[in-house]
Amino acid sequence: MKRLNTWLSNHKMKNLPTLIVLVIFIVFVIMLIAFLNHNDEDSSTIYITEDADMLTGPNATYPKIKSVSKGQNFHKIGESGKWIEIESNNGKEKGWIAGWHTNLNIAPDKTASAKPLKNKTIVLDPGHGGSDQGASSNTQKKSLEKVYTLKTAQELKTLLEKEGAHVKMTRETDEYVTLDERNLKGDAFISIHNDSLKSQKANGSTVYWFKKNQKALAETLNASIQKKALLSDRGARQQNYQVLRQTNVPAVLLELGYISNPTDENMIRDELHRKIVEQAVIDGLRSYFAE
Ligand SMILES: [Zn+2]
Repeated sequence: MKRLNTWLSNHKMKNLPTLIVLVIFIVFVIMLIAFLNHNDEDSSTIYITEDADMLTGPNATYPKIKSVSKGQNFHKIGESGKWIEIESNNGKEKGWIAGWHTNLNIAPDKTASAKPLKNKTIVLDPGHGGSDQGASSNTQKKSLEKVYTLKTAQELKTLLEKEGAHVKMTRETDEYVTLDERNLKGDAFISIHNDSLKSQKANGSTVYWFKKNQKALAETLNASIQKKALLSDRGARQQNYQVLRQTNVPAVLLELGYISNPTDENMIRDELHRKIVEQAVIDGLRSYFAE
């Protein structure tokens, strides 16, 4: 101690507090360097080793942001389980990708199925048809509900088949089908409609359920549609519709906008907007069946 004191006074640092502050400062610098090194590791470049999807969250049920191709590279900014959070080199795009599509040597996740709709049978029921035209618009366009329910169902069928699902349609053409005949069996039943009211003001989408085992699907689909589509939110509601009442499978009736509202009518007629709604239905089904 005497020697230390002598050394300190020789170096004009007899003041103990100064020494403590110095030691704390050195420790801080060492920790800072360690922290920066750690961050460097996390933001290291990763390479995409096969075509894959960038999603909004760290598992397959999250909505897709975009496709990424083999050979692209990104900054790794985080991870959760086997999923890696990535950022484009210009920092403009951010999302999650399954680790097994990258050069990080991560084994594919067998428990969390990447395709929850694979081999599921989905019944699509385009409302109305033939002599029953359903609702219609009062604008010059004179849009008919039966036309857009069928278009939506056909487009949805294509998307579902890409997910590996089997699709049954209650009608494939402009024909009249009774409500009794629409009761096809599957893992889920989705009836597709457009609303209408005398007042042109009413607008938005509603997802109807009737039996208790239909409520969760209705709420999941409503949340998913609201996340993506421009239609305003009329919620998931209980209603005693025959197509819901007569089936025992999880079933919903989608009212995808008011054909009697000119703004909704334009969205119903617009292929791009329909695609957004349809992709939202796919996202909702994926998350429903992933649970
Ligand atoms: Zn209808």
